[in-house]
Amino acid sequence: MRAEVISVGTELLLGQTVDTNSAYIGTFLAELGVDHTHRQTVGDNFDRLVSALQLALSRADIVITIGGLGPTQDDLTRQAIASALGEELVRDESLVEHLKNEYGRRGLKLVESQFRQADRPASGKPISNSNGTAPGLICTKESKYIIALPGPPRELIPMLEGPVREFLVSLNPGPQLYSRTLRVAGIGEGTLCEILADLMEGTETTLSPYAKTGEVHLRASTKAASQKEADTRLDFVEQEVRSLIGDKLYAIGEESLEEWIVKKLTNRSETVATAESCTGGLLAAAITSAAGASEVLGSSFITYSAEAKHELVGVKPESIAQFGTVSSEVAEELAIGARLRAGVTYGIGITGVAGSEPLDEPPEPKPSGLVYIGISTPTQSQVHTLHYRGSRELIRERAVVAALIELRNVLLAN
Ligand code: AMP
Ligand code: MG
Repeated sequence: MRAEVISVGTELLLGQTVDTNSAYIGTFLAELGVDHTHRQTVGDNFDRLVSALQLALSRADIVITIGGLGPTQDDLTRQAIASALGEELVRDESLVEHLKNEYGRRGLKLVESQFRQADRPASGKPISNSNGTAPGLICTKESKYIIALPGPPRELIPMLEGPVREFLVSLNPGPQLYSRTLRVAGIGEGTLCEILADLMEGTETTLSPYAKTGEVHLRASTKAASQKEADTRLDFVEQEVRSLIGDKLYAIGEESLEEWIVKKLTNRSETVATAESCTGGLLAAAITSAAGASEVLGSSFITYSAEAKHELVGVKPESIAQFGTVSSEVAEELAIGARLRAGVTYGIGITGVAGSEPLDEPPEPKPSGLVYIGISTPTQSQVHTLHYRGSRELIRERAVVAALIELRNVLLAN
């Protein structure tokens, strides 16, 4: 069973709106075992929309349209579907009632143009919209279907996950795709692919890498008749990956690096504090994004200026004078100072050059992308030197992930 998605809207072609709905529907169809063979994007233009629908109907069994169902003049999807199917557009009295109720409930006046949302192609069955006014539609012709959904994601997703999923499952699309995400930190994508080369050749279960900032996610997927059958295969692949890369595989599914760390620290009744220069609090923000962070994050110091480094966490002015603010020595003192001032188990210090220009400071200029990460534990301290390229944002983001990975390594080793 083949499906094609058509996203409708000039704003998508102009790049003003990112077509997140199509990406969502892509994953959704794959999970259901529906082959997703083509995707089109078309502006708010009647003739081009009708052509897009005709092309899609010529090669797919299910066509899903996104957008263009609202009440305004540029919302043309329902007329275009009627035209492509050679059907009349009819006004549905139950939809008229629904609109009156919806507008009444919100205390809004219903003007004539809004009744267009009660029109549907003759074969169309409405899909109710619990988060907006425009209903969706499922239209049929000669065992082909057009499913029309509204553009706003908060309206589209509930329809998709509710009635549309139910409808597609009733068509028996074939074996479902089951997936599992294996999250890897501390190995680059290239090295990882080399290590896993044999496993990636497998046909029953596919293993695809997606590089994220500082991490790689491996998506293991298999088409299977049941969850149980899928789990057997996915368990096997997971074990194989684990035996090849050990604890570089840090989590399965949705758990992020910061969630892993917060959970681990909570279990060990340990705490952490940060003193951040070039990341300006981003590391603390990452840690606080995980539930339960209040149990483990003592304090975080934003020590951007040389004075703040001294005043807030006690970095020695002599160290700054001798080695510069961006130096291994200062990163270590930031880490130790954060730990002692906050009275926590681990301190992390970050100092680096995120800007595109070198930092001109004594004793010598520091190149853009140079970052030092210090970690202090109750028994020792260590500093990692990193060299990044890229924009200010990317350097800062990578420094945060690197700090999380190094903290994780410390937690694994102790
Ligand atoms: P429409 O249903 O065409 O009036 O679209 C209403 C709004 O939904 C647009 O202004 C966008 O903000 C959003 N939208 C439409 N299509 C998409 C899409 N493919 N992905 C994400 N958002 C969309
Ligand atoms: Mg639109």
